[in-house]
Amino acid sequence: GERQATNLNGLADEYLRLAYHGLRAKDKSFNATLVTNFDPNLGTVEAVSQDVGRVLLNLFTNAFYAVQKRKELNQPGYSPIVTVSTRHLSNGDVEVQVRDNGMGIPQAVVDKIFQPFFTTKPTGEGTGLGLSLSYDIITKGHGGTLTVETTEGSGTTFSITLPA
Ligand code: ADP
Ligand code: MG
Repeated sequence: GERQATNLNGLADEYLRLAYHGLRAKDKSFNATLVTNFDPNLGTVEAVSQDVGRVLLNLFTNAFYAVQKRKELNQPGYSPIVTVSTRHLSNGDVEVQVRDNGMGIPQAVVDKIFQPFFTTKPTGEGTGLGLSLSYDIITKGHGGTLTVETTEGSGTTFSITLPA
């Protein structure tokens, strides 16, 4: 695909709702609160929007899976939340963060999640390709970064940066 001026707020919003309603269509019991925190002055970045959309879809799908898994633990008062935020960094680059309050990732596992075919999901539920593909799209395809911060048992944040 070709790079084009891309509005990441619009793209993130569209794919967040697409992922959410897609999951709910398959599983009526699935629910999560969606929070968006978009910088209204974000402007556009030069990006292959189809590819970045695919990355976002991967991150949202993973986030929904993680909150669903935590919900199955039946912890009192637990309420699943997936938050998407955009902002400008001080160097002008654009950041998109996808945060969930799901299961989190054990430290022994987190170093492997960007490897192709690494998955902790049962057969048929995950290919282990989402994050490795996402990493390549963001780094090789766009000169950006894709990083993770996580706390086991309480949640995970993935951060994408794209050059201004
Ligand atoms: P898949 O979703 O097919 O397993 P991914 O490459 O998307 O493959 O993710 C690899 C692994 O990283 C997952 O199986 C899971 O263990 C972990 N992971 C990714 N995102 C999250 C998240 N938001 N919360 C907890 N674990 C995650
Ligand atoms: Mg995935």
